[in-house]
Amino acid sequence: MNDLLLEATDISKAFGGLKALSNVNVSQRRGELLGMIGPNGSGKSTFVNVISGTLKPDSGEILLDGANIARRPQHVVARAGIARTFQAVKIFDNLTVLENVLAGALGHSSMGTKEVDEAREALARVGLTADLEQRAGALGLYDRRRLEFASRLISRPKLLMLDEPVGGLNPEEIRAMIGLIQSLREECGIFIIEHTMKVITSLADRVVVLVNGKKLVDDSPQTVLRHREVIDIYLGTGDA
Ligand code: ADP
Ligand code: MG
Repeated sequence: MNDLLLEATDISKAFGGLKALSNVNVSQRRGELLGMIGPNGSGKSTFVNVISGTLKPDSGEILLDGANIARRPQHVVARAGIARTFQAVKIFDNLTVLENVLAGALGHSSMGTKEVDEAREALARVGLTADLEQRAGALGLYDRRRLEFASRLISRPKLLMLDEPVGGLNPEEIRAMIGLIQSLREECGIFIIEHTMKVITSLADRVVVLVNGKKLVDDSPQTVLRHREVIDIYLGTGDA
């Protein structure tokens, strides 16, 4: 069996003359929690957009569990097993909590009891105990994030890609979010883009650092934190 869950090779993506990603290689082993850090504009979200099929890479190959998913439409990539969340939470404010999760169930057009049970289960997994008939628009940020997670987990992804999941949360919520992400490791592979070093060091087994669309380092959090250029970048911007 292939030990690699994700194998992205030589990924490049340009927007006009701007090279957002240049020949980036990233692989993720099964059971490994992979982190990605880098300054604003370094190409992190673009990387998730390319892997999840939101954007097509200009070049490169992407294997999920050995299957080629590069340049496939987003819904095909989703069915292959990649789910992602967004830096700015994407949920349907006018739908209820329950309807939001059901909307994430791939290939289910019906709303039978089986789907509703699965949606309840996904909500329980993320610890969201809000009234299921409540409008999602009424939820606070942490609950919105958890709802977005639940709407992805219902499709039972092989790989869940999280784009800055603690952005805007208070310290107590950040601790809870770290615990939640830890607990999700049992269900699927997790890839996390994060700005905060503390979050990365407490979660990631390995960290990829992107700078100007290029991979600078790819190593354990401890080693990455001692890397001279990483220190300069993070102390320089006060993000550490
Ligand atoms: P990060 O997530 O690391 O902050 P992004 O991947 O969002 O960085 O952006 C990388 C670069 O690509 C930035 O210069 C950004 O302005 C640019 N960019 C991202 N998405 C688009 C797009 N859809 N069209 C044009 N430029 C984009
Ligand atoms: Mg981003």
